[in-house]
Amino acid sequence: MSKVYDVAILGGGPAGLAAGLYASRSRMVSVVIEKAKWGGQAATTEELENYPGSIEHTTGPKLIDRMKSQAEAFGTELIKDDVLAIDPTGDIKTVKLANGEIKARTLIIATGAQPMLLGAPGEMDFRGKGVSYCATCDADFFTELEVVVVGGGDSAVEEAIYLTRFADKVTIVHRRDQFRAAKSIIEKAMKNEKISVIWDTVVEEIYGDGIVEGVKLKNIKTNETTDFRTDGVFVFVGYKPFAEFAKGIVEMDEKGYIITDENMRTSVEGIFAAGDVRKKLLRQVVTATADGAIAATIAEKYIEDKFHS
Ligand code: NAP
Repeated sequence: MSKVYDVAILGGGPAGLAAGLYASRSRMVSVVIEKAKWGGQAATTEELENYPGSIEHTTGPKLIDRMKSQAEAFGTELIKDDVLAIDPTGDIKTVKLANGEIKARTLIIATGAQPMLLGAPGEMDFRGKGVSYCATCDADFFTELEVVVVGGGDSAVEEAIYLTRFADKVTIVHRRDQFRAAKSIIEKAMKNEKISVIWDTVVEEIYGDGIVEGVKLKNIKTNETTDFRTDGVFVFVGYKPFAEFAKGIVEMDEKGYIITDENMRTSVEGIFAAGDVRKKLLRQVVTATADGAIAATIAEKYIEDKFHS
């Protein structure tokens, strides 16, 4: 019979890497599968001021590198592949990948979330030509230029601050008259002279000639529309869970977030979920790693009870 892992962890962000670390430390044979960038969203974050112990000089990519090497040092296998489907039937579960399949006694789904689109005309046409969803990836293209940031959550306000290191002017366009970001982040942004805010306003269209040249804005209180010149549009209007392959298998909420109990157990025995893909209140690196640790620990108990008692 081909190799059977104790735990296959789907997704290599903070939740998945923490699960890998905990699994291998308890001597479970474990693998983490990541299709794109190790670290997911955390790897696109420059500052991690709210991750305990990382007040200075800890960028997302640096922290993720350390998480990866720590998990590997204890024996977790890390592979790059795309999860296409899971088959949960039976004691041994199957993960169908773009390049083969993997068998495991337990699965931990830690596939995170992906950026939501604005849905405005022009957004797709100018993707990569002025429209971006990742400030740390693209900010330097906008050195000494002017950019618009759309959204009012932690991502929008935090990334607006980051963008001021490069751009001359950053205008946050938010659909309401107050941010939902954490107060400390808002205070920092409001003190930054390069940042201004246009409240109660949505982006109706992104336009240009080959590259972004401007946006059409609409004030939702007055219905007035204006043209606003900009070189770039950074969209931070939230994230949606990335777990299509588990639809109809594990219980999800109406938005597609996986429902678990406090021990990360999903509705299917032997399948756990951890991190941003899970229905929960606080989606941050600190809660993702905690989820991963819990999921791996409970997976071990499950294996112990099911296969060794
Ligand atoms: P979020 O908290 O869901 O905020 C999305 C923002 O986009 C909201 O302000 C929302 O407006 C706005 N929005 C949604 N759809 C829109 C549309 N179609 N047009 C215009 N605006 C729209 O998303 P997020 O900021 O990406 O954060 C996601 C999660 O990650 C949160 O739990 C957040 O706390 C966490 N996070 C934490 C940190 C940190 O701790 N440093 C950093 C980044 C993210 P309304 O306010 O009107 O709903």
